[in-house]
Amino acid sequence: MRAIVQIDLDAIAHNIAEVRKRTIAPILAVVKADAYGHGLIPVATTAIDSGATWLGVALLEEAIALREAGIEVPIIAWLTPPHDDFEAALKNNIDLSVSSVELFAEILETAKRVHIKPRLHFEVDTGMRRGGILDDWEEFLRYASDHKSEFELAGFWSHFARADEPDSEFNFTQMFEFKTRLIALEESWLIPTTVHLSNSAAILSNPAAHHSMVRLGIAMYGLSPDVKNMGAGSEFNVRPAMTIKAQLHLVKRAKAGDAVGYGGTGVLTHDTKLGVVAMGYSDGLPRSTSNAVGVSFAGRKAPLVGRISMDQCVVDLGWDSDAQAGDYVTVMGGDGYSIDEWAAAANTINYEIVTRIAPRVPRIY
Ligand SMILES: *Cc1c(COP(=O)(O)O)cnc(C)c1O
Repeated sequence: MRAIVQIDLDAIAHNIAEVRKRTIAPILAVVKADAYGHGLIPVATTAIDSGATWLGVALLEEAIALREAGIEVPIIAWLTPPHDDFEAALKNNIDLSVSSVELFAEILETAKRVHIKPRLHFEVDTGMRRGGILDDWEEFLRYASDHKSEFELAGFWSHFARADEPDSEFNFTQMFEFKTRLIALEESWLIPTTVHLSNSAAILSNPAAHHSMVRLGIAMYGLSPDVKNMGAGSEFNVRPAMTIKAQLHLVKRAKAGDAVGYGGTGVLTHDTKLGVVAMGYSDGLPRSTSNAVGVSFAGRKAPLVGRISMDQCVVDLGWDSDAQAGDYVTVMGGDGYSIDEWAAAANTINYEIVTRIAPRVPRIY
């Protein structure tokens, strides 16, 4: 195989164990986007075996794939647009999130038709201005009270906008808003079974926000929610689960002054051996990446030269390198450049790097 993503499931188990030292709240493992590119089913299964008691995904299709794999723990799908397949959701016992009266009504109608009581989580907007009920909260509460017998209130939740800035006052603003809404809910005798607010950053930095469940994403994969503000994952004792390797198609000598790749942007400053790596931007390596990163071979770094192409890229192996065509180099993780280094070089975050590794690169466990 010319390129592979190796997933260390023991690292996932280890990371969950580390998180469990920091909270007594039950853990919902977030496995959206193919488990952040790590593979939905193997990660979900490992998370459950390691003590996670809930799973969370964005899409209904992701939740259904988990049920089809025989997974029985509670699952929330929190991104279901109007006219999604709510019948399938109910039949598969998937918890749904609602943040508008319209969606709420549509789900209750479907529920009546199929005679299944839906398990709902109310999402409130406490400041992020993305998902969640905002200005129609009073109307929403009235609607919920009027239909109390038609659903099970499985959860009440919100999401932080700036949890990765632990010192930001805004976290307290959101926590205050969350409590205020929760009190209003309970005063209407709507008592949620779970109350959840914290993502990885809040799990690691804000115990007061843990409530009765936490939603663990990036830290489970061994990465930091924000390298600048919170330090690398090693600060929290988590370790990355993903390592990417690729084969060299070709190794050859080139001369100082040669210009490598499209546009000739990679001008060699010395005679060297170039390695042509069988992985490119269609596989998820960001084309905008500067030559601050590259690959490693036998523990030695080989920086990128020139632009990344669709299916390949070129690295400077060094004049005396022993690398040969067919050898595997480490593209990310392991003894190579870290996922965080790739993210910094592409001016993005580690979340984007791991979730965009293409499905055509096989995951090996
Ligand atoms: C993705 C997501 C999470 C997990 O966030 P991390 O920062 O990866 O821990 C939690 N909650 C919701 C609603 C999400 O969409």
